[in-house]
Amino acid sequence: MLITLCGGEGAGKSTQVLRLAQNLEKKGYGVVSTREPGGTAIGRKIRALLLDPANGAMVADTELFLYAADRAQHLAEVVRPALAAGKLVISDRFADSTTVYQGVARGLAPRRIQQVHDLVLQGLCPDITFLMDLPPEEGLARALSQAALGARKAEEMRFEQETLVFHRNIRQGFLDLAEKEKHRFFIMDAMQHPDLLTEQMLAIVEEKLLE
Ligand code: C5P
Repeated sequence: MLITLCGGEGAGKSTQVLRLAQNLEKKGYGVVSTREPGGTAIGRKIRALLLDPANGAMVADTELFLYAADRAQHLAEVVRPALAAGKLVISDRFADSTTVYQGVARGLAPRRIQQVHDLVLQGLCPDITFLMDLPPEEGLARALSQAALGARKAEEMRFEQETLVFHRNIRQGFLDLAEKEKHRFFIMDAMQHPDLLTEQMLAIVEEKLLE
């Protein structure tokens, strides 16, 4: 089963991936937790290129293809083998982030994004997608305080160069996508206490596992 988490900056995705994985492992499930961009050694090099604030001049197509390259490597090296071995794969971001960041926010045509998804995903679709939703003002404040505490690397702060309008478009883009793909999306109120969020997400995963 493929479980993905998506959302804007500072929504607590990585915390929840960790907690979900720990809880599911405790219950006896084989779990692989991973992330995009940067779920593989090659992907980490691509991630560094993508998120470096010094690369602010990167055009949208370059961005699109670098995320696609990261995903191709991630699928081949991590996701597909783990799914084939019957594991639960939990990914911090996946293709939906491309649909929203490179599509909605950077303005690339939906058809262009879809063509790249078709090439890379070859029909693979998450079973569950959690949208960690919160106002961008709150998410950005959290992300910046994590950076101040050293929990987020300065060389990955390219998102800081974007306007609040960009981040609002991201939030709306994810909400619109969740509406379109209702069958797999669960919108989580990321303003809630992390313990409560984990509890709610676990219940959703366990229900799906029983289907
Ligand atoms: O979720 P995480 O903090 O690892 O994401 C790293 C950065 O990559 C975020 O700042 C996000 O803005 C950006 N990103 C993007 N397009 C994607 C995925 C992530 O711009 N498809």
